Amino acid sequence: MPEIPDLEAIRGFLNQRLPGQRIERAEALIPVVFRVPKDDLIQTLEGNALGMTERRGKFLLFGLESGHLLVINAMLTGRFQYLRPEVKRRARTCLALGLANGWELRYVDERLMGKVYLTTPERLMEVPQFAEMGPDALGVSEEEFTQRLRRFTGQIKSALVNHRFVAGIGNAYADEILFAARLHPYRKRTTMTGDDISRLYAAIGKVFAWATPIVAGQMREELNYEERRDFLKMHRRGGEPCPVCGTRISEITAGQRITSFCRTCQPG
Ligand SMILES: [Zn+2]
Repeated sequence: MPEIPDLEAIRGFLNQRLPGQRIERAEALIPVVFRVPKDDLIQTLEGNALGMTERRGKFLLFGLESGHLLVINAMLTGRFQYLRPEVKRRARTCLALGLANGWELRYVDERLMGKVYLTTPERLMEVPQFAEMGPDALGVSEEEFTQRLRRFTGQIKSALVNHRFVAGIGNAYADEILFAARLHPYRKRTTMTGDDISRLYAAIGKVFAWATPIVAGQMREELNYEERRDFLKMHRRGGEPCPVCGTRISEITAGQRITSFCRTCQPG
């Protein structure tokens, strides 16, 4: 699932290339992901020019010259591509935009769980999940973070990945953040001290500032992004030695969610 470092790197990549590019051709190829009538989408996109791409939580918002926003929630398997048009399309290519500069912007979604909306800044809150979403995990102040956290009484990892608390953190980076903050993922929020919460808040900024340039460095001239997270220190490293203390990393699967942590560095 794309999380803040992935989406920030993609946003940076696209903002160096897309603004001002006219969309010469729009193809809506797999209807199930579109939350707007296909004809409206094509009609609005063709001839329009792209502006800046922004991010809110796990959504990317593509600005358009007409004032519209193309909003994409990539969910688990949505991927963005910026390729030459002759590069063979993957089977689950949902949207392809042929740009005036000769490149093609694509949205591909293996499990077709993502959603594509067409809206305006005024109507953004009508996009499902937008209104309920908490502040972005990258921009929230420590004061607001601390206040909002008080509403959650369960395990701290569950709060971190809950977009109603703060938006943009998923399962993988939650493990990294908790490791950096030396907090056990199943720690009850109600047992956390002020110092624990401060460490957690600081860890979010630290982990994203560390990871985003690494992800961005994986992108070259084209964007054909597959999540490569072999640089993560904790997530999915079960059985390997902890990079800090050497203890064997624990890995627990609950529901569909894998949680990796170090019992020594994250004692409770
Ligand atoms: Zn450790």
